[in-house]
Amino acid sequence: MFLRCIDCAAALPAGMYYSCQACGGILEVVEPIRLPRPLPGAGMWSGDAALGVGDPAAVATLGEGMTPLHRAPGLARAIGADGDIRIKDETVNPTGSFKDRAVAAAVARARELGLPGIVCASSGNAGASAAAYAARAGLPAVIVVPTHTPVEKLTQIAAYGARLVQVDGHYSRAYAVGLDIARRHGLANVTTTYLNPYGVDALKTVGHEIFDQMEGRVPDWVLVPTGAGPLVRGVVQGFRERAPGHLPKLVAVQAEGCAPIVRAFEAGERAVRAWGTPTTFASGISDPLIGYERDGTHTLDLVIATGGLAVAVEDEAIRAAMALLARGEGILAEPTGASSVAALQMLLADGRIARDASVVCLVTGHGFKDLKVWREMPADIRRLEDPADADRLVETILAGGVASSDQDRPREAS
Ligand SMILES: *Cc1c(COP(=O)(O)O)cnc(C)c1O
Repeated sequence: MFLRCIDCAAALPAGMYYSCQACGGILEVVEPIRLPRPLPGAGMWSGDAALGVGDPAAVATLGEGMTPLHRAPGLARAIGADGDIRIKDETVNPTGSFKDRAVAAAVARARELGLPGIVCASSGNAGASAAAYAARAGLPAVIVVPTHTPVEKLTQIAAYGARLVQVDGHYSRAYAVGLDIARRHGLANVTTTYLNPYGVDALKTVGHEIFDQMEGRVPDWVLVPTGAGPLVRGVVQGFRERAPGHLPKLVAVQAEGCAPIVRAFEAGERAVRAWGTPTTFASGISDPLIGYERDGTHTLDLVIATGGLAVAVEDEAIRAAMALLARGEGILAEPTGASSVAALQMLLADGRIARDASVVCLVTGHGFKDLKVWREMPADIRRLEDPADADRLVETILAGGVASSDQDRPREAS
């Protein structure tokens, strides 16, 4: 196992390095080592993937990965698709997002290398993963987040006992503080941009699983909520290993309010430039890439290599997709998690994806992580003042009666 720069191909030993010493480029893991045997019942560690960790004692697992791939006929009908539409449900990972895969591998490698603790810059989900896996591994963790991170994510990070550092401004500012802390204190940086090669490498398991769950068929399209893009890379790498020469077309989905990769794609530029100030409620992909623009460029290269697309969706379309997923399929997603479904709806409507195409939407983060958005959704909630009225109330409900408007919001118990 060694590390190699994706730009200049310079090689480095498999230590905890974050960028090419020669050109600053992104490093990737080459010929990853594997555990001597799979760990039964331990999610992505229970398969045969080589995940860059050789010592089973270094793995602190919570059962991350091996998530379900659901058929979604209700959703397909609602958005006008006739093909095989499936949801890769990453919300069921131990801390509620796919970040668990990357962080579990990065923490295991840090442990194997004997590092004293971890730091993670995060818009919330990677921080929750880092806090949980640090607790599991018995390592101290410092998590750096923007102040405006959803309160559920902050609460989750603090609950696992991590030290939480809030910085004013957007994600890229937290990223810079994380770099600094890692450098000064010798902590492993498990930030889930392209920084940590072991973390990024583990995301290939998403591609492996989709291929295996579709019994060796390659879907036409895979839609991926995209910040910096390691998850895009994970899907591409997974299919490259399982089905060489048969890649699905990847769609990198961003929010209108923060879409640096889409802007470059639409302008026909190959180099991604940083975004100004993000304005979207999709916190998990609100990443302006300031200071690590080459992450975006690498992701764009991958998307283009598959013949895919980069598209942006409005917050309102995401809100509608959240409701469709919850009501049509029983899957509760945070805004970012449902952005792939919003994009599919748009691409079916404008004909860029054919109605009979076979499509996988990655749903990346759980709805519990951003409840404010859900509290603002219309809901049918009625108060039963007198238990004697229960029959009448249920009859109205079953007859399709509509709740009066002052009763249609969840409220705190008084
Ligand atoms: C981090 C995150 C993403 C974006 O992942 P990248 O690999 O940075 O592109 C998408 N969805 C959710 C819920 C996330 O937390």
